[in-house]
Amino acid sequence: MRHVPTVFEAVRNEFGPELPLLHDGHNRLTPREAAQFAKSLEPYNLFWLEDVTLGENQENLRYVRQQSTTPLAIGEVFNSVYDIKDLIDNQLIDYVRCATTHFGGITPLKKVMAQAEPYQIKSGFHGPTDVSPIGFAAELHLDINIHNYGAQEYMTHSKETLEVFETSMTFENGLLHPGDNPGLGVEFHPEIAEKFPYEQAYLPYNRLADGTVHNW
Ligand SMILES: [Mg+2]
Repeated sequence: MRHVPTVFEAVRNEFGPELPLLHDGHNRLTPREAAQFAKSLEPYNLFWLEDVTLGENQENLRYVRQQSTTPLAIGEVFNSVYDIKDLIDNQLIDYVRCATTHFGGITPLKKVMAQAEPYQIKSGFHGPTDVSPIGFAAELHLDINIHNYGAQEYMTHSKETLEVFETSMTFENGLLHPGDNPGLGVEFHPEIAEKFPYEQAYLPYNRLADGTVHNW
């Protein structure tokens, strides 16, 4: 709460007003903390503030919204149209962070973006490497289809993943292009996947100062 605004101040001083800056709160703040935090970041004019507090209780977002003009992005844990429709209708967010893979595919996400369009709410689909190249390609195709595109999160998949999933997508100078292959432009090679047996892995545990396990 104290440190992050000083980081944004330093970055703005160094790089000026044009650089788009984003921050992810990972649902860690209470609604009151989230409101105070969003307000404290207003001078740094963020592109978006993501998951500033839990989105499942949608009244939380109303409270934050009433206190601050910092743009809010939410939705990466949502699993259906019904998880986000009220946030859109009440204009409590600025960016839809849902992922095709968690949200039921292209069709429900396309419906949600059509619902968001009259309110000038834009897309900002979830795109870390745990969204497979197939899921990512689905998002990219939807990005170029909708009129209220905002931004697309993207992390490069590993060399091994791209061996298993052959994609036609390109990423150059910060710009993604889905390529010209038919369909989603991704070819899955199960025989290559067999070279990489499953290895169990976990995200790091997140703990409070007293050692209590806390929401990642
Ligand atoms: Mg996030």
